[in-house]
Amino acid sequence: MTKTILTGLRPTGNLHLGHYFGAAHNWVKLQNDYDFYLEIADVQALTDNFDNPDKVRKNVYEITLDLLSIGINPEKVNLFIQSKIPEIAELTVFFSNLVTVSRLQRNPTVKNEIAQKKELFGNNGESITYGFLGYPVSQAADITAFDGEIIPVGDDQLPLLEQCREIVRKFNSIYGDTFKEPEQVLSESTRIKGLDGNEKMGKSLGNAIYLVDDEETIKKKVMGAITDPNKIKKDDPANPEVCMVYYYHKLVNSGENIKTVCSECKNGTRGCVQCKRELIDKLNEFLNPIREKRKYYEEQPELVQKILDDGTNKAKERAKEQMEKVRKAMKIDY
Ligand code: SF4
Repeated sequence: MTKTILTGLRPTGNLHLGHYFGAAHNWVKLQNDYDFYLEIADVQALTDNFDNPDKVRKNVYEITLDLLSIGINPEKVNLFIQSKIPEIAELTVFFSNLVTVSRLQRNPTVKNEIAQKKELFGNNGESITYGFLGYPVSQAADITAFDGEIIPVGDDQLPLLEQCREIVRKFNSIYGDTFKEPEQVLSESTRIKGLDGNEKMGKSLGNAIYLVDDEETIKKKVMGAITDPNKIKKDDPANPEVCMVYYYHKLVNSGENIKTVCSECKNGTRGCVQCKRELIDKLNEFLNPIREKRKYYEEQPELVQKILDDGTNKAKERAKEQMEKVRKAMKIDY
């Protein structure tokens, strides 16, 4: 039997190259081999955007267009909206009895995120909400509502999956074997640095290249990218390994061209402006098919709505069956 895979993303902004090379390109490969559920996690997005529902609403549609434009095939993937599956919320409530507050506070991924959201949750997380602290519980419900067996995660997400496994083990030990323990599939993907050299690409950091960026925007962003600060004149030899332009050449250029960029940079026969122009061309070559596909879907909003409705209906059927099992196991199947 085909195994079930579940993954998702928060609709808080468009996809950028960090999302694409960090995870999403891998989903396009995985969609051929699994029963694939791809969740647009609007409920989870609201945990730290509860005061901005318009942003979440708008990005549900934007993210759907992004996913379709990179090659997510709605014939193979059940693309669904989290809030349309109330069974997930119900399961979250049942799971919340199986997790201690201190265990959630110790979860390294949660700790990290609280530290990054000081404006919202205070310097020491003193204003943390019950909803945000509990999002790993809701994530465990996302996975188990579909009996997700394979979960594609980056290593920074592993503590969330471990938390889900703990919940599954506890549930099964109290109420009897109900859920499969999910396994991770670590993607071949890498974390992508921002144009400014920051280890992480992100909207709030202002260092991202988005899949929706047009040619003019790409030009502006690449022209401002960080290069080797020791290269002053065009023919100064430089170190490509400290240059973000070279870093992005390695993502979107071909093997031979990358070698040429590297050697010409090192021996001082390549100027940064020319190097950036070549990168702009390569980025546009990479983005053009994505732009075309996006345009195709943008022009057919009814089709996009139908894809979301169909995916959500299939997900709902599966979650409904699963919840019948859960209620029976918990003796609340009145
Ligand atoms: Fe970077 Fe290219 Fe300039 Fe070398 S020549 S420092 S790789 S932009």
